[in-house]
Amino acid sequence: MAAPQRRSPRILTVKSSRYLTPHMIRVTLTGDGLADFPEGQEGAHCKLAFPREGESFEAFSALYSEGRPKERVHPVRTYTVRSFRPESLEMDIDFVAHGDEGPATLWAQSAAPGDFLAFMGPGPVKLTEFYADWYLVAADMSALPVAAATLEAMPETARGVAIFEIHSEDDRQEIDIPEGIKTHWLVQDDPHLPSAAQIDFIRGLEFPDGRIQTCIAGESGVIRELRLLVQTGRGIDKADAYISGYWKLGLVEDQHQQAKREGLAG
Ligand SMILES: Cc1cc2nc3c(=O)[nH]c(=O)nc-3n(C[C@H](O)[C@H](O)[C@H](O)COP(=O)(O)OP(=O)(O)OC[C@H]3O[C@@H](n4cnc5c(N)ncnc54)[C@H](O)[C@@H]3O)c2cc1C
Repeated sequence: MAAPQRRSPRILTVKSSRYLTPHMIRVTLTGDGLADFPEGQEGAHCKLAFPREGESFEAFSALYSEGRPKERVHPVRTYTVRSFRPESLEMDIDFVAHGDEGPATLWAQSAAPGDFLAFMGPGPVKLTEFYADWYLVAADMSALPVAAATLEAMPETARGVAIFEIHSEDDRQEIDIPEGIKTHWLVQDDPHLPSAAQIDFIRGLEFPDGRIQTCIAGESGVIRELRLLVQTGRGIDKADAYISGYWKLGLVEDQHQQAKREGLAG
């Protein structure tokens, strides 16, 4: 599906915020700007700009009233539309509480009704057509929102495997997953250490014959390996494989995006 047309950033305010699980914060955003938000964008990514400490709503909004500022004034991070309820103009975004002092995480940890941010996007939804005989979904916590939205959009008859790498047993979430998708939760309690859990698991999987589609995202080093495994190793067609690095150990997002552009990160 083509990306919806670029529009001025939407200034949204926090309606509520809560810990969905010990390491996942669900922030519900609202605002008149959502009146023209397209439906069916669950799983699409967006860019969020966060205000500076003490910045007023008026001063912040003014900077986005004529589009994206030419120069970066605020920290901007990439997130996923987890759900959108047009009738109440509410959008949920799930933030991993990963324990680092990143501006997005800090903002989400203290988000309270009336707080605000600028929402840019949405970008394209990752999987819009479901035609596979078998699906492979793999996600760490940063990619749980895209994985969950994708699984919820699949036909009820879908078959395959979904692997979620989470920080603790209690980070399991309720997701509406087709019965034919076998789910595995892998616990890796320190996300700051490299993890081979998903790689080992997928290496040991038996891939059936037939057309395979993937939705795989997470830490860049893991993604690099998984890309080799599923595309080069298993020959899954590039067009059928959504596989993307969402963050990288030791790099803040801007550095990670730069490394991706230079082909140095997954
Ligand atoms: C298309 C796309 C969609 C995404 N959707 C989501 C989403 O819905 N929810 C979500 O939580 N994240 C999502 N991410 C990942 C998110 O953009 C990054 O995790 C981002 O770095 C968080 O910003 P920050 O300000 O918290 O940390 P930064 O300032 O970017 O980084 C600070 C430090 O934290 C580390 N770090 C960053 N993220 C993680 C993590 N998940 N686990 C452990 N350490 C980390 C970095 O390596 C760095 O050392 C998405 C990324 C992409 C590309």
